Amino acid sequence: MKLLVAVKRVIDYNVKPRVKMDGSGVDLANVKMSMNPFDEIAVEEAIRLKEKGVATEIVAVSIGPAKAQETLRTALAMGADRAILVQTDEEVEPLAVAKILAKVADEEQPQMIVLGKQAIDDDNNATGQMLAALLGWPQGTFASKVDPGGDRVKVTREVDGGLETVDLKLPAVVTTDLRLNEPRYASLPNIMKAKSKPLATKSPSDFGVDTARRLETLKVSEPSKRQAGIKVGSVDELIDKLRETGVVG
Ligand code: AMP
Repeated sequence: MKLLVAVKRVIDYNVKPRVKMDGSGVDLANVKMSMNPFDEIAVEEAIRLKEKGVATEIVAVSIGPAKAQETLRTALAMGADRAILVQTDEEVEPLAVAKILAKVADEEQPQMIVLGKQAIDDDNNATGQMLAALLGWPQGTFASKVDPGGDRVKVTREVDGGLETVDLKLPAVVTTDLRLNEPRYASLPNIMKAKSKPLATKSPSDFGVDTARRLETLKVSEPSKRQAGIKVGSVDELIDKLRETGVVG
């Protein structure tokens, strides 16, 4: 089966984001950017399915600036076969990303599209669901296990208070949760090899998708600072403090 994997270039998860002075967004100047961690899990899952002989080809897709090529090269170095960059310098919202991915799916005809459950920059958790709706395909979101067989795939989902297993008819959309797998690091020889793997560059207009924004960001602000804690000497003192502050009556 052919797999499409969506990878987004985001601010690295180790970086503490700084809000721009004018509150219009997060400052990305000179900030380390990496592949969205849930997308690394998506690439890893695709590679494992290929190693098991289930998947035959893995195509990684990213929508973003020219620098998103680096993210795609990482996917190729991990083990994807080829990559497609849909290049734009605009900020692209989940609906536009989903529309572009749906068009790529029309062209590529994959049996499964694997995405992260959310991108850690905007935390939208929307693209996979919108993509499934646009394509009319079944979806297995928040996957902690993916088990394809024949023309179906069983997806175990992390839901509140437990696990749910859904049995989907292929083609299907799957979004990854944290416990699905632990992504591999690309080895140096594979990083070198990835440089010569095919990477096609397209634009949103090639797919006839209008990426105009529908959402307006009104204000971005830092979370409020945590107050310093206090130490108490005894349980009685703790109870007094809790009464004083109104935490207990
Ligand atoms: P979101 O709905 O924005 O939280 O993103 C969910 C998932 O959709 C991500 O983990 C990616 O797999 C995919 N995705 C979102 N934006 C992009 C993008 N610009 N390029 C490629 N994949 C994306």
